[in-house]
Amino acid sequence: MNKSLELATDIRTNLIGMNRAELACAIVEIGEPAETAKMRAKQLWHWIYHHGVTDFAEMTSLNGMLRDALASVYTLARPKIVREQSSEDGTRKWLLKFGDNQEAESVFIPEEARGALCISSQVGCTLTCRFCHTGTQRLVRNLDAREIVSQFLVARDSYGEWPSPGGGRLISNIVMMGMGEPLFNYENVAKAIRIVMDEEGLSISRRRITLSTAGVAPMIERCGAELGVGLAISLHAVTDELRDELMPINRKYPLSQLLDACRRYPGASNARRITFEYVMLKGINDSPMDAKALVRLIAGIPAKINLIPFNAWPGAPYECSTPDAIAKFAAIVNAAGYSSPVRTPRGRDILAACGQLRSDSVRAPRISLATPSRSANARRSVTS
Ligand code: SAH
Repeated sequence: MNKSLELATDIRTNLIGMNRAELACAIVEIGEPAETAKMRAKQLWHWIYHHGVTDFAEMTSLNGMLRDALASVYTLARPKIVREQSSEDGTRKWLLKFGDNQEAESVFIPEEARGALCISSQVGCTLTCRFCHTGTQRLVRNLDAREIVSQFLVARDSYGEWPSPGGGRLISNIVMMGMGEPLFNYENVAKAIRIVMDEEGLSISRRRITLSTAGVAPMIERCGAELGVGLAISLHAVTDELRDELMPINRKYPLSQLLDACRRYPGASNARRITFEYVMLKGINDSPMDAKALVRLIAGIPAKINLIPFNAWPGAPYECSTPDAIAKFAAIVNAAGYSSPVRTPRGRDILAACGQLRSDSVRAPRISLATPSRSANARRSVTS
């Protein structure tokens, strides 16, 4: 089934990304009586998110007049795929271009009979984490709900996984871990996640969705209460001195505040642990003392630690820890009772691994935050 593509010249309104109530209003606007609009919206929703249809003419449960009216005013077009790359390990990456020519990337990471789609929430990122390639790109803008949901639709198109529910889908999980900070764009991200979770459509359960944040502490509790998705925290350092330097957001929301927010995360339990991501940077944060301090820091939080070998990118100021340092670090964390899987780098050959995403159409100097770091020279603050 060919999917229609977004055209800059198309003045029709795209229905993707609207919630059910908005969809019903859109139908009323083209003359459908208010009494039947809700039912029509339900049917339309099913065509869009269960069948993945982009051509109104295929929506055979709607009458011909309504189909024509929809097609004259609305569209379901997908963003343009500028580039689709496949890694030797099966990882697939899409560079998508939206109506205003801005671009963002999404990545599918297949496992045995399932896999996770890594979705972007912003074009670029304002966080400027020092180890992250996306942070070297000027933030252009937030993605809206349509652009976020569309990343999922494009991936399903690419694998031909329509109609939607029914289990056995390769694209079974979602991680909000692509470009951007999802909690800086919460409204759009939340709207998109609700669409993706809807059981009459894409039907991805909240248990299969993980949102990763660099630590926008005041938004964390709300995210858990409203969406109930899994939480991942990009921790990466165990002292404020080092974290200030690696992740400027720590100057605004220091570790104590971040960990308090984690302790209050609704729904966190031993069955549903918070993931702490920890990038392994050689000689910076990877000593046995750091591992011990990490264990002390997260005491009392149902947690698992995901160790991420640093993925290099052109001009990166860090190196990846040695396999031996990573193994020792993992052993300490593990002995303290936390599972500490080492994330296998996926798609490095196509720059699709963690921290490597960057739409290369946008090149700009790194923006620095105005607040000075607590210690500009803080490097290893926990020494062995
Ligand atoms: N802004 C969100 C989403 C990014 S998620 C967040 O910060 O959580 C991507 C994960 O990869 C984060 O944990 C991020 O810190 C990590 N990461 C960034 N650059 C990396 C790199 N070069 N190597 C390994 N991990 C990296």
